[in-house]
Amino acid sequence: MSPPALSPELWSHIFDYCAVPNEENKQLRQLTLAILLRVNSHFFSIAASVLYRDCTIQDLGAFLLGSNGSRQSPKSTALNNLTDLELIREGKSKLALLRHVRRFTIIPYSLGLKGFSVAIDEQQSSYHQVKNTLVQLADVETSITPRLEGMSIGPHVFSDSPETDRIHSRFFSEIHHIRRKLMETCKPKYWCERSPLHGYCFEPIQSDFINHELNALPETVNIHTRLDGTFPLVWGTKNMISIRGERDIALFKSPNYLSAPMVQTEITDGNAVIDPVIAAGTTPEELDMLPKPVFTEEDLTRNMVYTVIRSMPSWIRRLHCATQDAINARTEIEIYGLEKVMAGPSLDQIDNSSLSPPSPSLFAQTLAPDQVSFTHDDQHKIIAQSMRLKKMQHIIKQELNVSEGGYWRRTGSKAPSLNLFLAVDYPGCQCCGKGKHGSWI
Ligand SMILES: [Zn+2]
Repeated sequence: MSPPALSPELWSHIFDYCAVPNEENKQLRQLTLAILLRVNSHFFSIAASVLYRDCTIQDLGAFLLGSNGSRQSPKSTALNNLTDLELIREGKSKLALLRHVRRFTIIPYSLGLKGFSVAIDEQQSSYHQVKNTLVQLADVETSITPRLEGMSIGPHVFSDSPETDRIHSRFFSEIHHIRRKLMETCKPKYWCERSPLHGYCFEPIQSDFINHELNALPETVNIHTRLDGTFPLVWGTKNMISIRGERDIALFKSPNYLSAPMVQTEITDGNAVIDPVIAAGTTPEELDMLPKPVFTEEDLTRNMVYTVIRSMPSWIRRLHCATQDAINARTEIEIYGLEKVMAGPSLDQIDNSSLSPPSPSLFAQTLAPDQVSFTHDDQHKIIAQSMRLKKMQHIIKQELNVSEGGYWRRTGSKAPSLNLFLAVDYPGCQCCGKGKHGSWI
Protein backbone atom coordinates (compact mmCIF):
# COMPACT_ATOMS: atom_id res chain seq x y z
CA MET A 1 0.00 0.00 0.00
CA SER A 2 1.45 3.37 -0.95
CA PRO A 3 1.34 6.18 1.62
CA PRO A 4 -1.18 9.01 1.16
CA ALA A 5 0.08 11.74 -1.16
CA LEU A 6 1.50 14.12 1.40
CA SER A 7 4.67 16.07 0.75
CA PRO A 8 7.86 14.81 2.47
CA GLU A 9 7.85 18.03 4.54
CA LEU A 10 4.39 17.23 5.92
CA TRP A 11 5.36 13.62 6.67
CA SER A 12 8.48 14.89 8.38
CA HIS A 13 6.37 17.21 10.51
CA ILE A 14 4.09 14.31 11.47
CA PHE A 15 7.08 12.05 12.24
CA ASP A 16 8.47 14.73 14.55
CA TYR A 17 5.57 13.92 16.88
CA CYS A 18 6.62 10.25 16.89
CA ALA A 19 10.02 11.07 18.40
CA VAL A 20 10.61 10.63 22.13
CA PRO A 21 11.79 14.09 23.26
CA ASN A 22 15.55 14.43 23.72
CA GLU A 23 16.92 14.10 27.21
CA GLU A 24 20.32 15.49 27.90
CA ASN A 25 23.04 12.87 28.37
CA LYS A 26 20.72 10.02 27.60
CA GLN A 27 20.60 7.66 24.68
CA LEU A 28 16.93 7.08 23.94
CA ARG A 29 15.14 4.24 22.19
CA GLN A 30 13.00 5.63 19.38
CA LEU A 31 10.83 2.61 18.71
CA THR A 32 8.13 4.30 16.62
CA LEU A 33 10.62 5.96 14.29
CA ALA A 34 12.54 2.69 14.02
CA ILE A 35 9.34 0.97 12.86
CA LEU A 36 8.58 3.79 10.39
CA LEU A 37 12.04 3.30 8.87
CA ARG A 38 10.99 -0.17 7.75
CA VAL A 39 7.66 0.73 6.11
CA ASN A 40 9.01 1.59 2.65
CA SER A 41 11.84 3.54 1.01
CA HIS A 42 9.81 6.77 1.02
CA PHE A 43 9.27 6.58 4.78
CA PHE A 44 12.86 5.39 5.31
CA SER A 45 14.36 8.71 4.17
CA ILE A 46 11.84 10.82 6.09
CA ALA A 47 12.05 8.82 9.33
CA ALA A 48 15.87 8.72 9.05
CA SER A 49 16.03 12.49 8.76
CA VAL A 50 14.06 12.79 12.04
CA LEU A 51 15.69 9.87 13.87
CA TYR A 52 19.28 10.74 13.00
CA ARG A 53 19.06 14.56 12.99
CA ASP A 54 20.28 15.01 16.55
CA CYS A 55 21.84 11.89 18.05
CA THR A 56 22.99 11.36 21.62
CA ILE A 57 24.92 8.11 21.62
CA GLN A 58 26.26 6.00 24.45
CA ASP A 59 26.85 2.79 22.50
CA LEU A 60 29.02 4.18 19.71
CA GLY A 61 29.97 0.66 18.63
CA ALA A 62 26.39 -0.24 17.74
CA PHE A 63 25.79 3.19 16.23
CA LEU A 64 28.64 2.90 13.73
CA LEU A 65 28.20 -0.81 13.09
CA GLY A 66 27.64 -1.38 9.38
CA SER A 67 28.95 2.02 8.30
CA ASN A 68 31.77 0.22 6.52
CA GLY A 69 29.16 -1.58 4.40
CA SER A 70 28.66 -5.28 3.95
CA ARG A 71 29.76 -5.56 0.35
CA GLN A 72 32.61 -4.28 -1.79
CA SER A 73 31.90 -0.61 -2.17
CA PRO A 74 32.09 1.72 -5.10
CA LYS A 75 34.56 4.58 -4.59
CA SER A 76 33.50 6.36 -1.40
CA THR A 77 33.31 9.69 -3.20
CA ALA A 78 30.60 8.21 -5.40
CA LEU A 79 28.49 7.12 -2.42
CA ASN A 80 27.24 10.62 -1.71
CA ASN A 81 25.62 10.71 -5.14
CA LEU A 82 23.52 7.64 -4.46
CA THR A 83 19.95 7.87 -3.17
CA ASP A 84 19.05 6.25 0.13
CA LEU A 85 17.39 3.41 -1.77
CA GLU A 86 20.46 2.84 -3.94
CA LEU A 87 22.64 2.74 -0.83
CA ILE A 88 20.33 0.17 0.76
CA ARG A 89 20.53 -1.95 -2.40
CA GLU A 90 24.33 -1.68 -2.17
CA GLY A 91 24.06 -3.19 1.33
CA LYS A 92 24.90 0.14 2.96
CA SER A 93 21.76 1.02 4.86
CA LYS A 94 23.79 2.37 7.81
CA LEU A 95 25.41 4.94 5.51
CA ALA A 96 21.93 5.88 4.27
CA LEU A 97 21.02 6.60 7.91
CA LEU A 98 24.24 8.34 8.96
CA ARG A 99 24.04 10.83 6.09
CA HIS A 100 21.11 12.46 7.95
CA VAL A 101 23.09 13.25 11.13
CA ARG A 102 23.44 16.97 11.81
CA ARG A 103 24.31 16.97 15.49
CA PHE A 104 26.11 14.18 17.26
CA THR A 105 26.80 13.88 20.99
CA ILE A 106 28.88 11.00 22.32
CA ILE A 107 28.47 10.32 26.04
CA PRO A 108 29.93 7.85 28.53
CA TYR A 109 27.90 4.87 29.72
CA SER A 110 25.64 5.59 32.66
CA LEU A 111 25.65 3.49 35.81
CA GLY A 112 22.08 2.42 35.10
CA LEU A 113 20.34 -0.42 36.86
CA LYS A 114 22.94 -3.02 35.97
CA GLY A 115 25.66 -1.43 38.05
CA PHE A 116 29.28 -0.39 37.74
CA SER A 117 30.97 -3.56 36.47
CA VAL A 118 28.44 -4.11 33.73
CA ALA A 119 28.64 -0.46 32.61
CA ILE A 120 32.45 -0.64 32.45
CA ASP A 121 32.40 -3.94 30.51
CA GLU A 122 29.73 -2.83 28.06
CA GLN A 123 31.52 0.46 27.42
CA GLN A 124 34.80 -1.31 26.77
CA SER A 125 33.15 -3.78 24.45
CA SER A 126 31.40 -0.97 22.56
CA TYR A 127 34.70 0.85 21.94
CA HIS A 128 36.34 -2.37 20.86
CA GLN A 129 33.63 -2.51 18.21
CA VAL A 130 34.21 1.17 17.30
CA LYS A 131 37.90 0.52 16.70
CA ASN A 132 37.11 -2.43 14.41
CA THR A 133 34.69 -0.33 12.39
CA LEU A 134 37.06 2.63 12.11
CA VAL A 135 39.87 0.38 10.90
CA GLN A 136 37.60 -0.86 8.12
CA LEU A 137 36.75 2.74 7.24
CA ALA A 138 40.43 3.59 6.82
CA ASP A 139 40.13 4.17 3.07
CA VAL A 140 36.96 6.27 3.22
CA GLU A 141 37.74 9.61 1.63
CA THR A 142 34.53 11.49 2.28
CA SER A 143 32.61 11.91 5.49
CA ILE A 144 30.23 9.17 6.59
CA THR A 145 28.12 12.02 8.01
CA PRO A 146 28.19 14.60 5.19
CA ARG A 147 25.56 16.87 6.81
CA LEU A 148 27.18 16.89 10.26
CA GLU A 149 27.35 20.35 11.81
CA GLY A 150 28.37 19.80 15.44
CA MET A 151 30.03 16.92 17.24
CA SER A 152 30.16 16.95 21.06
CA ILE A 153 32.32 14.64 23.13
CA GLY A 154 31.65 14.07 26.81
CA PRO A 155 28.89 14.39 29.37
CA HIS A 156 27.08 17.65 29.86
CA VAL A 157 26.68 17.04 33.59
CA PHE A 158 29.47 16.23 36.00
CA SER A 159 29.75 12.91 37.76
CA ASP A 160 28.37 12.67 41.27
CA SER A 161 29.96 9.41 42.44
CA PRO A 162 33.37 7.70 42.34
CA GLU A 163 31.90 4.94 40.12
CA THR A 164 30.64 7.46 37.56
CA ASP A 165 34.01 9.21 37.74
CA ARG A 166 35.72 5.97 36.77
CA ILE A 167 33.31 5.30 33.91
CA HIS A 168 33.92 8.84 32.58
CA SER A 169 37.65 8.42 32.98
CA ARG A 170 37.63 5.14 31.00
CA PHE A 171 35.40 6.79 28.39
CA PHE A 172 37.96 9.53 27.75
CA SER A 173 40.75 6.96 27.60
CA GLU A 174 38.83 5.15 24.86
CA ILE A 175 38.05 8.42 23.05
CA HIS A 176 41.72 9.40 23.18
CA HIS A 177 42.64 6.54 20.85
CA ILE A 178 39.93 7.23 18.28
CA ARG A 179 39.36 10.99 18.47
CA ARG A 180 41.44 11.90 15.42
CA LYS A 181 39.99 9.07 13.31
CA LEU A 182 36.48 9.97 14.41
CA MET A 183 37.06 13.58 13.35
CA GLU A 184 38.45 12.49 9.96
CA THR A 185 35.65 10.01 9.37
CA CYS A 186 32.78 12.28 10.37
CA LYS A 187 34.28 15.68 9.43
CA PRO A 188 32.13 17.89 11.68
CA LYS A 189 31.98 21.59 10.98
CA TYR A 190 32.23 22.34 14.71
CA TRP A 191 33.77 20.28 17.51
CA CYS A 192 33.12 20.46 21.25
CA GLU A 193 34.74 18.65 24.18
CA ARG A 194 33.36 18.50 27.68
CA SER A 195 36.09 16.50 29.36
CA PRO A 196 36.62 16.89 33.10
CA LEU A 197 40.36 17.11 32.49
CA HIS A 198 40.65 18.87 29.15
CA GLY A 199 44.20 17.92 28.48
CA TYR A 200 43.65 16.57 24.99
CA CYS A 201 42.01 17.12 21.67
CA PHE A 202 43.15 15.88 18.26
CA GLU A 203 46.52 16.98 16.90
CA PRO A 204 46.59 18.76 13.56
CA ILE A 205 48.88 17.17 10.97
CA GLN A 206 50.53 18.72 7.96
CA SER A 207 48.15 17.16 5.45
CA ASP A 208 45.25 18.98 7.13
CA PHE A 209 46.46 22.02 5.23
CA ILE A 210 46.63 21.70 1.48
CA ASN A 211 47.51 24.86 -0.42
CA HIS A 212 46.98 26.77 2.84
CA GLU A 213 43.36 25.67 2.87
CA LEU A 214 41.79 23.89 5.77
CA ASN A 215 41.18 20.34 4.70
CA ALA A 216 40.04 18.15 7.55
CA LEU A 217 39.88 20.24 10.71
CA PRO A 218 36.61 21.62 12.07
CA GLU A 219 36.06 25.35 11.61
CA THR A 220 35.78 25.80 15.37
CA VAL A 221 36.91 23.74 18.34
CA ASN A 222 34.99 24.51 21.55
CA ILE A 223 36.52 23.36 24.82
CA HIS A 224 34.46 23.63 28.00
CA THR A 225 36.83 23.50 30.93
CA ARG A 226 37.06 23.97 34.67
CA LEU A 227 40.68 24.91 34.09
CA ASP A 228 41.79 22.48 36.75
CA GLY A 229 44.63 21.48 34.47
CA THR A 230 45.82 22.63 31.13
CA PHE A 231 43.53 22.62 28.10
CA PRO A 232 44.06 21.71 24.45
CA LEU A 233 44.42 24.13 21.56
CA VAL A 234 44.24 23.01 17.96
CA TRP A 235 46.64 24.86 15.73
CA GLY A 236 45.29 26.05 12.36
CA THR A 237 41.68 26.63 13.37
CA LYS A 238 39.52 28.71 15.70
CA ASN A 239 39.57 27.68 19.37
CA MET A 240 36.83 28.90 21.71
CA ILE A 241 37.72 27.99 25.30
CA SER A 242 34.93 28.58 27.80
CA ILE A 243 35.57 28.36 31.54
CA ARG A 244 33.03 26.85 33.88
CA GLY A 245 33.47 28.02 37.44
CA GLU A 246 32.86 26.02 40.60
CA ARG A 247 29.46 27.60 40.86
CA ASP A 248 28.38 26.32 37.43
CA ILE A 249 29.50 22.83 38.40
CA ALA A 250 27.71 22.95 41.75
CA LEU A 251 24.50 23.77 39.94
CA PHE A 252 24.89 20.70 37.77
CA LYS A 253 25.57 18.49 40.77
CA SER A 254 22.51 19.67 42.63
CA PRO A 255 19.92 16.89 42.99
CA ASN A 256 17.28 19.56 42.46
CA TYR A 257 18.79 20.64 39.17
CA LEU A 258 16.52 18.82 36.75
CA SER A 259 13.25 19.37 38.58
CA ALA A 260 13.79 22.93 39.74
CA PRO A 261 11.67 25.64 38.13
CA MET A 262 13.88 28.24 36.52
CA VAL A 263 12.43 31.43 37.83
CA GLN A 264 15.17 33.66 39.04
CA THR A 265 17.70 35.59 37.05
CA GLU A 266 20.63 37.18 38.75
CA ILE A 267 23.98 38.63 37.90
CA THR A 268 26.81 37.03 39.82
CA ASP A 269 30.40 37.93 39.15
CA GLY A 270 29.37 39.25 35.76
CA ASN A 271 27.56 36.07 34.77
CA ALA A 272 23.88 36.15 33.95
CA VAL A 273 22.47 32.91 35.32
CA ILE A 274 19.08 31.42 35.88
CA ASP A 275 19.44 29.88 39.25
CA PRO A 276 17.56 26.63 39.90
CA VAL A 277 19.31 26.07 43.22
CA ILE A 278 17.89 29.26 44.60
CA ALA A 279 14.59 28.57 42.85
CA ALA A 280 14.46 25.15 44.50
CA GLY A 281 14.81 26.65 47.94
CA THR A 282 18.54 26.30 48.61
CA THR A 283 19.68 29.19 50.68
CA PRO A 284 22.14 31.74 49.32
CA GLU A 285 24.36 30.98 52.32
CA GLU A 286 24.95 27.48 50.95
CA LEU A 287 26.09 28.99 47.65
CA ASP A 288 28.44 31.28 49.55
CA MET A 289 30.08 28.17 50.97
CA LEU A 290 31.13 26.93 47.53
CA PRO A 291 34.87 26.83 46.93
CA LYS A 292 36.23 30.18 45.88
CA PRO A 293 38.36 30.66 42.76
CA VAL A 294 41.90 29.67 43.50
CA PHE A 295 43.99 30.90 40.58
CA THR A 296 46.10 34.01 40.81
CA GLU A 297 46.73 36.11 37.72
CA GLU A 298 50.28 34.74 37.70
CA ASP A 299 48.99 31.14 37.73
CA LEU A 300 46.61 31.82 34.88
CA THR A 301 49.15 33.73 32.82
CA ARG A 302 51.67 30.91 33.21
CA ASN A 303 49.01 28.36 32.27
CA MET A 304 48.02 30.27 29.11
CA VAL A 305 51.61 30.83 27.96
CA TYR A 306 52.51 27.17 28.56
CA THR A 307 49.37 25.97 26.80
CA VAL A 308 49.97 28.07 23.69
CA ILE A 309 53.62 27.02 23.40
CA ARG A 310 52.88 23.36 24.10
CA SER A 311 50.11 23.20 21.51
CA MET A 312 52.23 24.43 18.58
CA PRO A 313 52.96 21.36 16.43
CA SER A 314 56.67 20.80 15.95
CA TRP A 315 56.27 20.25 12.19
CA ILE A 316 55.16 23.86 11.67
CA ARG A 317 58.68 25.18 12.26
CA ARG A 318 59.99 23.05 9.39
CA LEU A 319 57.62 24.60 6.84
CA HIS A 320 58.25 27.43 4.41
CA CYS A 321 57.69 30.86 6.05
CA ALA A 322 54.63 31.67 3.93
CA THR A 323 52.99 28.36 4.87
CA GLN A 324 53.80 28.88 8.55
CA ASP A 325 52.26 32.35 8.37
CA ALA A 326 49.15 31.01 6.67
CA ILE A 327 48.60 28.33 9.31
CA ASN A 328 49.36 30.67 12.21
CA ALA A 329 46.97 33.24 10.76
CA ARG A 330 44.25 30.61 10.84
CA THR A 331 44.95 29.90 14.52
CA GLU A 332 42.56 31.94 16.63
CA ILE A 333 42.42 31.54 20.41
CA GLU A 334 39.48 33.01 22.28
CA ILE A 335 39.21 32.36 26.02
CA TYR A 336 35.95 33.16 27.79
CA GLY A 337 35.30 33.51 31.49
CA LEU A 338 38.70 33.58 33.22
CA GLU A 339 37.13 35.95 35.74
CA LYS A 340 35.16 32.95 37.07
CA VAL A 341 38.28 31.30 38.42
CA MET A 342 40.46 34.30 39.08
CA ALA A 343 41.46 35.18 42.62
CA GLY A 344 43.66 38.09 43.53
CA PRO A 345 43.22 41.77 44.18
CA SER A 346 39.76 43.23 44.42
CA LEU A 347 38.52 44.88 41.29
CA ASP A 348 38.93 48.31 42.86
CA GLN A 349 42.65 47.73 43.24
CA ILE A 350 43.29 47.23 39.56
CA ASP A 351 45.58 49.84 38.12
CA ASN A 352 44.06 50.73 34.78
CA SER A 353 46.02 53.91 34.31
CA SER A 354 48.50 52.42 31.85
CA LEU A 355 45.82 50.95 29.64
CA SER A 356 43.69 52.45 26.92
CA PRO A 357 40.11 53.49 27.81
CA PRO A 358 37.77 50.72 28.98
CA SER A 359 36.32 48.51 26.35
CA PRO A 360 32.89 47.47 27.62
CA SER A 361 31.89 43.87 27.21
CA LEU A 362 30.55 42.88 23.82
CA PHE A 363 27.56 41.51 25.70
CA ALA A 364 26.88 44.85 27.39
CA GLN A 365 27.23 46.61 24.05
CA THR A 366 24.79 44.39 22.23
CA LEU A 367 22.10 43.94 24.89
CA ALA A 368 18.72 45.15 23.79
CA PRO A 369 17.05 47.49 26.31
CA ASP A 370 14.42 44.91 27.24
CA GLN A 371 16.97 42.18 28.06
CA VAL A 372 18.69 41.64 31.41
CA SER A 373 19.17 45.06 32.92
CA PHE A 374 22.40 45.98 34.66
CA THR A 375 22.65 48.12 37.73
CA HIS A 376 25.31 50.77 37.88
CA ASP A 377 27.40 48.44 40.09
CA ASP A 378 27.06 45.59 37.59
CA GLN A 379 28.22 47.84 34.77
CA HIS A 380 31.16 48.98 36.85
CA LYS A 381 32.04 45.36 37.64
CA ILE A 382 31.80 44.27 34.00
CA ILE A 383 34.03 47.10 32.83
CA ALA A 384 36.52 46.48 35.64
CA GLN A 385 36.68 42.75 34.85
CA SER A 386 37.04 43.52 31.19
CA MET A 387 39.99 45.80 31.97
CA ARG A 388 41.56 43.12 34.11
CA LEU A 389 41.34 40.57 31.29
CA LYS A 390 42.74 43.09 28.84
CA LYS A 391 45.69 43.64 31.12
CA MET A 392 46.26 39.90 31.42
CA GLN A 393 45.99 39.47 27.64
CA HIS A 394 48.70 42.12 27.25
CA ILE A 395 50.99 40.29 29.71
CA ILE A 396 50.43 36.89 28.05
CA LYS A 397 51.42 38.30 24.68
CA GLN A 398 54.51 39.86 26.20
CA GLU A 399 55.48 36.55 27.79
CA LEU A 400 54.92 34.78 24.49
CA ASN A 401 57.04 37.39 22.78
CA VAL A 402 54.20 38.37 20.47
CA SER A 403 53.73 42.01 19.44
CA GLU A 404 50.40 43.78 19.95
CA GLY A 405 50.10 43.65 16.17
CA GLY A 406 50.15 39.86 16.33
CA TYR A 407 53.68 38.92 15.15
CA TRP A 408 56.39 36.84 16.85
CA ARG A 409 58.98 39.43 17.85
CA ARG A 410 61.90 37.05 17.26
CA THR A 411 61.10 36.09 13.67
CA GLY A 412 58.63 38.74 12.54
CA SER A 413 56.29 36.02 11.29
CA LYS A 414 52.57 35.86 11.99
CA ALA A 415 51.49 34.63 15.43
CA PRO A 416 48.09 33.19 16.36
CA SER A 417 45.53 35.69 17.59
CA LEU A 418 44.77 35.53 21.32
CA ASN A 419 41.87 37.30 23.00
CA LEU A 420 40.40 37.05 26.48
CA PHE A 421 36.70 37.74 26.90
CA LEU A 422 34.25 37.79 29.77
CA ALA A 423 32.00 34.77 30.20
CA VAL A 424 29.00 36.92 29.28
CA ASP A 425 30.53 37.46 25.87
CA TYR A 426 30.54 33.75 24.99
CA PRO A 427 28.06 33.37 22.12
CA GLY A 428 27.26 29.75 23.06
CA CYS A 429 28.71 26.52 21.74
CA GLN A 430 27.79 25.74 18.11
CA CYS A 431 27.70 22.03 18.98
CA CYS A 432 25.98 21.57 22.34
CA GLY A 433 24.35 25.00 22.47
CA LYS A 434 25.56 25.55 26.03
CA GLY A 435 27.30 28.43 27.78
CA LYS A 436 25.60 31.35 26.06
CA HIS A 437 26.44 34.51 27.98
CA GLY A 438 28.20 32.36 30.59
CA SER A 439 25.08 30.42 31.59
CA TRP A 440 25.46 26.63 31.64
CA ILE A 441 21.92 25.59 32.49
ZN1 LIG B 1 29.74 22.51 23.52
